[in-house]
Amino acid sequence: MNLIRLNRATQDEVDLQKTYDAIVVGSGAAGGMAAHVLTSHGMKVLMLEAGKKLDIDKELKSTEWPYDHKRRGQMPPDSHPLSLNEYTIRQPPYAADSKYKHVYSYVQGWGGSDYSKNIVVDERDHPYTGTNYAWVRARVLGGKTNIWGRLALRLSDLDFKAKTHDGYGEDWPISYKDVAPYYDKVDLYLGISGVKENLPHLPDSIFQRPIKLTAAELTLRQRLKKMNRVLTPYRAGVTTDGLKHNKYRSRCFGRGACNRRAGGCDIHAAFDSPTGLILPAMDTGNLTLRTNSIAYEVTVDKKTGKASGVAFIDADTGKTYEAKAKVVVIAASTLESARLMLLSKSDAHPSGIGNSSGHVGHNFCEHIMGPHVTGLVKDQVGKPHTLDDGKPGHFYLARFRNLTDRHPNFIRGYGFEGGAGSSMFPGNSMSTPGFGASYKKTVRDYSGAFIEMGAFGEVLARYENYVDIDPAMKDKWGVPVLRFHYRFGDNEKKMAEDMADTAQEMFTEAGFEIINVGRRILTEGWSIHELGTARMGTDKKTSVLNQFQQSHDVKNLFVVDGSSHVSASCQNPTWTIMALAWRSCDHLSDELKKGNL
Ligand SMILES: Cc1cc2nc3c(=O)[nH]c(=O)nc-3n(C[C@H](O)[C@H](O)[C@H](O)COP(=O)(O)OP(=O)(O)OC[C@H]3O[C@@H](n4cnc5c(N)ncnc54)[C@H](O)[C@@H]3O)c2cc1C
Ligand code: SF4
Repeated sequence: MNLIRLNRATQDEVDLQKTYDAIVVGSGAAGGMAAHVLTSHGMKVLMLEAGKKLDIDKELKSTEWPYDHKRRGQMPPDSHPLSLNEYTIRQPPYAADSKYKHVYSYVQGWGGSDYSKNIVVDERDHPYTGTNYAWVRARVLGGKTNIWGRLALRLSDLDFKAKTHDGYGEDWPISYKDVAPYYDKVDLYLGISGVKENLPHLPDSIFQRPIKLTAAELTLRQRLKKMNRVLTPYRAGVTTDGLKHNKYRSRCFGRGACNRRAGGCDIHAAFDSPTGLILPAMDTGNLTLRTNSIAYEVTVDKKTGKASGVAFIDADTGKTYEAKAKVVVIAASTLESARLMLLSKSDAHPSGIGNSSGHVGHNFCEHIMGPHVTGLVKDQVGKPHTLDDGKPGHFYLARFRNLTDRHPNFIRGYGFEGGAGSSMFPGNSMSTPGFGASYKKTVRDYSGAFIEMGAFGEVLARYENYVDIDPAMKDKWGVPVLRFHYRFGDNEKKMAEDMADTAQEMFTEAGFEIINVGRRILTEGWSIHELGTARMGTDKKTSVLNQFQQSHDVKNLFVVDGSSHVSASCQNPTWTIMALAWRSCDHLSDELKKGNL
């Protein structure tokens, strides 16, 4: 693999006198896709990324054995991951008064955290205020795609037309048929593994070789069929067959550190924006990349009120610059994009650029998590171990609530992610009583016999759930920070009760011995699927963007990340973010050519 272009130490030269065709802010799933599509249309694009350009292969070391790391993959003792109790008992900013040198979000509490410590932000430098929220951010080239969990799902018209279905909220200004061709393009360009199930509410992708289910997972799949529920192999945004058109990526070896969370894949079988999108875009000769460039304002032409470019701070030197462009594409991730829009105040846009509706920051939604179940599969006790660590994922159990029937207590739905099988480190070793040879035998005999799953449910988009700019607090670079006003509501809490009940019901039906049923709801933000802060719509008074993620107010401004989503659905959002960004950037390029921007 030739990653030299990305790993070189110097910055691309940004020509501050030049007017680029487009500036893209952010380099994650959304920004990477924007860069790929716009450069492939021949546009000259400047990408501004706030984070640094890491030599990601030196960070992730996906094939390193635990004993080759001096702390078996753990961070040094002066680094602290926030716990569930800290998130709920304390108020943000969570790093204030901490005795630790570095404070990170909860994902750094998972195994292998030393490998991702330079990818996830240090909360000390990046504070926020307001209500409890577990905000996970990755400020590096590629953003969160460097460590994402890769569950790659499509939305259906049950999601796009959810209001028509149950009367709540707003329908999206598009339907499945508008996005389907772009989901296909994303599948083929980036690679996805899975199995076709023909479910109208979870449309199939164009799948590469699927991940094999373990024996216990197969048992659950079979038993659930009788309940008319579908467990399918994890739909992973991973190329299992390889991608001939992309020299920077390789097919899945099936033996990396996929069990490390947050893990990443330096084989680049799992999609990440740098190798999947940005390097190929650089190869067109049309992309200028500037990392360490924190956008703090979309500048405006006083005469026209249109966007004229982006003002940014060099993260290393603190110097400020302004770059110019015909079109500005914001893709800084849902919450950072809202922050940038709200910070971009001018005479033409006194409440922030593109915010004449007052909806920027509002209708903030995501997924609720927490309820889960663990079971013991008795007929797997003492069976030979299988190799299940090097798997990009295990299974997904599709939504089954409120499809054709109507649950009396809540609207919308939830799905489960789960898995069973053997792993290098047997999780049951901590809970198994005893010592000596018999203890070791028990641990070994039972290690591959557990199965678990946890739910992800739709949080309703509500105007009163929002973020705004804190009037007092600033980050390390002097940029005002976000303040959260966000809580789960009654619908989510009732849904969570049902998640725990059905999880238990399904494992019981499958014949598994129930070891534990978790009912506690995790802190807001835990899903890392934040959405909705600049939603699309047809009404300028109640939405920020049109169906092409183009600002209603400022026609040469596009916001192509999850902030545009009208509702959260219960499916993970990244594949939809990229399909929509592709669609919008095709439109943008056409409109620019026609002189309409
Ligand atoms: C551990 C983990 C597991 C996940 N699992 C899944 C999963 O299984 N399935 C799924 O669909 N999703 C998953 N996600 C979520 C997924 O990563 C995001 O949906 C996706 O990365 C969003 O893309 P984005 O481009 O909007 O944001 P990001 O990937 O966060 O990229 C945004 C980029 O913008 C940059 N930026 C921010 N502010 C500025 C600024 N002011 N100026 C310049 N640049 C800026 C950031 O540094 C960052 O690089 C997971 C995330 C994590 C962390
Ligand atoms: S198992 Fe596949 S996706 Fe996971 S780290 Fe290895 S190559 Fe990457």
